[in-house]
Amino acid sequence: MSAAAEPKVYGWCPGALRPMMSGDGLVVRVRAPLGKLSVTQARGVARLSEEFGNGLLDISARANLQMRGIREDAHEDLIEALRALGLIDPDASAEARRNVLPAPFWAEGDDTHAIATGLSAALAGAADLTLPGKFGFAVDCSAEPVLQDIAADIRIERSGGTLILRADGAGAGLPVTRESAVAEALALARWFLEQGGAPEGRGRMHRLIARRGPPAAHAAPVARTAFAAKPGAVPSGTLAALEFGQMPAATLAQLADHGPIRLTPWRMLLVEGAKSLPPLPGLILDATDPRLQVVACTGAPGCLQALSSTRDLARELAPHVPAGTKLHISGCAKGCACPGPAPLTLTATGENEFSLIRNGTAADQPLKTRLSASALRAAPELLKEGS
Ligand code: SF4
Repeated sequence: MSAAAEPKVYGWCPGALRPMMSGDGLVVRVRAPLGKLSVTQARGVARLSEEFGNGLLDISARANLQMRGIREDAHEDLIEALRALGLIDPDASAEARRNVLPAPFWAEGDDTHAIATGLSAALAGAADLTLPGKFGFAVDCSAEPVLQDIAADIRIERSGGTLILRADGAGAGLPVTRESAVAEALALARWFLEQGGAPEGRGRMHRLIARRGPPAAHAAPVARTAFAAKPGAVPSGTLAALEFGQMPAATLAQLADHGPIRLTPWRMLLVEGAKSLPPLPGLILDATDPRLQVVACTGAPGCLQALSSTRDLARELAPHVPAGTKLHISGCAKGCACPGPAPLTLTATGENEFSLIRNGTAADQPLKTRLSASALRAAPELLKEGS
């Protein structure tokens, strides 16, 4: 990758109290407690998005809701309104620490609900714990884990009927109980820091585990469970996918007419109790929709670092992506929409110009370079060449 194309790495994620400037205004990320918006909260966020922003809402890979295009001079008023809805932490550091992702199918009073609630409160109160900005926890305690493929540094999951605390990257963990899980998770976070997992304030658990392995007591094996979310009915409601993880605020308001909303890390919303949902702008309700096979970041003009637009091309190439595979289109080598490897990746290297990478990340060595968007549109089979 050329130095000119080197993306800027911030090492932190935007919050509500610490927003990030983007090409279309401030990005304000709302970390809804337990990943749930009540009907009132969902309608409120939708109204505020239109009043103070550009009316577009993203769902992040950690199941947070991003309000886009917020005017700088409106940020303070927005925060007060979000605070009145119960969606704002006491301060920016508590907001950053409370990075807890519960499995979206939790039920009131079950292990996921109880542990995620306790962990969120403990992290918010642990003012001495200075973790890297992206360091996160996953609480995934149902019989079949659903978050094992989702990025997290510390995991509490069920394996063979036992709750296990596991450092990301380790194949084994520490058996815990509902009562001990929160304290042990915080102890593991402190161990990560003591072991030098975050030099200069940055670092991820899986990198530390690759260097030195997990703590000696983490010896209970954890079974791997693959889970693929699809739009459609689930026991607790209906899952609706969002095209490129984005929707107009009006869609969120209309979804709230059907029930409370749960945010998921699969770029989908779970509408609690809904048996079906109407077609609304930005929603994908059909599990065979080809757009489910493409991911594309904000791209130009919404992202300041983007070298090209991404989503129009992704929409056009979606029907040509071979079945069972995935195409990632990235506006630069940072690969925000898909940090891990994808079967096919197009990384922008200039305006409407892309490199093709196979089985890699947006920053990996390309198989082909200087592919123009128009050539890809005219001959989408270029994606399959060399496979
Ligand atoms: S990957 Fe996309 S969203 Fe992320 S910095 Fe690059 S252009 Fe922006």
